[in-house]
Amino acid sequence: MSWSSRKIFQTVKFRVALWYAVLFAFSATISFLLVFIYLRNSMLKQTDHKLANYADRVLYDYLTNNKFKRFDREVPLAKVPPEAMDAIKRRIPELMPLLAFERGGRKLHYYTVIGYADEKLYELRLESGGTVFTRLIQTSDHLPQVRKGFQNMVAEEGSSNLFFRLSTPQGRVVAQSLLPQTFPKDIPPNLFDKYHTISGNPPFRVMTVRLFDGSILEIGRSLYYMQRRLELYSLIFFSTIGAILCLGTLCGWLIARKFIAGVERLNAAAQHIILSGDFSRRVPVENDGVEIDDLVKAFNSMNANTEKLITELQHITDDIAHDLRTPLTRMRGMAEVTVSGPQDLAQYREMACDVAEECTKMVAMINTMLEITRTESNLETISESRLSLNELLEQAYELYQLLAEEKGQIFSLNLPDETVMISADKIKIQRIVANLLDNAIKFTPKGGFITLDLSSGNGMAEIRICDTGCGIPEKDLENIFKRFYRADSSRTLPGNGLGLSLVHAIVEAHHGRITVASSEKGSVFTVYLPLC
Ligand code: ADP
Repeated sequence: MSWSSRKIFQTVKFRVALWYAVLFAFSATISFLLVFIYLRNSMLKQTDHKLANYADRVLYDYLTNNKFKRFDREVPLAKVPPEAMDAIKRRIPELMPLLAFERGGRKLHYYTVIGYADEKLYELRLESGGTVFTRLIQTSDHLPQVRKGFQNMVAEEGSSNLFFRLSTPQGRVVAQSLLPQTFPKDIPPNLFDKYHTISGNPPFRVMTVRLFDGSILEIGRSLYYMQRRLELYSLIFFSTIGAILCLGTLCGWLIARKFIAGVERLNAAAQHIILSGDFSRRVPVENDGVEIDDLVKAFNSMNANTEKLITELQHITDDIAHDLRTPLTRMRGMAEVTVSGPQDLAQYREMACDVAEECTKMVAMINTMLEITRTESNLETISESRLSLNELLEQAYELYQLLAEEKGQIFSLNLPDETVMISADKIKIQRIVANLLDNAIKFTPKGGFITLDLSSGNGMAEIRICDTGCGIPEKDLENIFKRFYRADSSRTLPGNGLGLSLVHAIVEAHHGRITVASSEKGSVFTVYLPLC
């Protein structure tokens, strides 16, 4: 078996089609069996009913020699008036009545009863005057009529379809029709007054009756037609089921193929990504069903995230390389100048101090990057405690007041009367405020205004830092929270473009948000943090 054919058998499509076929075949077989059993039983019942009718006709001939046909009307024994039956039984008290006839006329009305007593068969006729005539019947005299009856009945159904055999109690056959070879020679003793089926080709159904005098009557009827009908039924059923099964399996295959078309598209996209590393590939959502569509959407957004992460990572790597190269180049330059210049100790000392300063900056930058990454991925532990923002901002104000004054800026603080409490990591919140104030002071020219406001509303504390600085160009606004991003206008100023990324990461880690609005007249940063 080739690899590809083995693979086909392992596909979901094949399995769905197979399961469909198995379940269908199973349920079809069950229904076939039920219908088959029902049909067979009802046909057997019909046959048994016919056999019972034939048995009645044979008994009639055996008892009456068919002589009552013309003038007498057969009546059920229960319909014979009790006084008439009493009159007849008075003649032979131990009589066991078997048949009764009525002959009616205005003047003459009488009943004839055929009955059995003392191993003898009698015919007793009660005339209207009350006289009872008795006649002893010799059943052996009726055998020619019985044989004739056999022939008539066989002619009705065909000699290969109906068989009779009448035997004495000792088993001697006294009358019979043409018997098939498979007809049993001996009478099975345990099957008297029962129907049984004799297998063969064709099989036949046999009724064995013990008559009133102990004689045994066997009537057999071929089950050829029943067998043919059942064969025809099976043929029609199985060919229909076979066709439905093939069609159903094909439909199952097609339906499964349609259902998993989305998964196959997904797989093709995944294979493409594995081989090419191109995460820009997206799988179209084509209404394959909610589950598949959700899977496709999840795959696409996972891909988009991965693509974004990889792009970000590339940018970060580039930025890191760039930001580390500058100080490293500077350090190399300093070292080269020092080595090639006058070899005095003061020069070396100065170089060592400069190198140490650059190293401190680089370490700070690397630490900030690490902190951002750890905060964004929730690895940084945030030790929350209840803290008053009024107090925290007041301390920050005092700290930065001096710095602002040095730069000739007017720095003001507006706090609400009520205390605004939040549950947060104090050091981290301090870093937020410090970064934003640093920027405000850095980007605001001499004589500019900086305000630090605190308010609360809608379950959130609002820290607003406004400045009348250079502002942020609109095209840069959406990027300023990205790592290493710096607007062109600020490239001449010190900084590394990590401050706002860290602020953003800390705010998010505290389930808050930060917004920025900026124009040429200045910028407004607003930090929202949940109140406690
Ligand atoms: P850095 O200040 O070290 O450059 P930040 O991440 O703090 O890095 O800020 C990123 C950039 O956002 C800055 O380079 C600057 O272009 C812009 N920016 C931030 N705050 C202000 C502000 N108050 N006024 C004008 N521009 C600002």
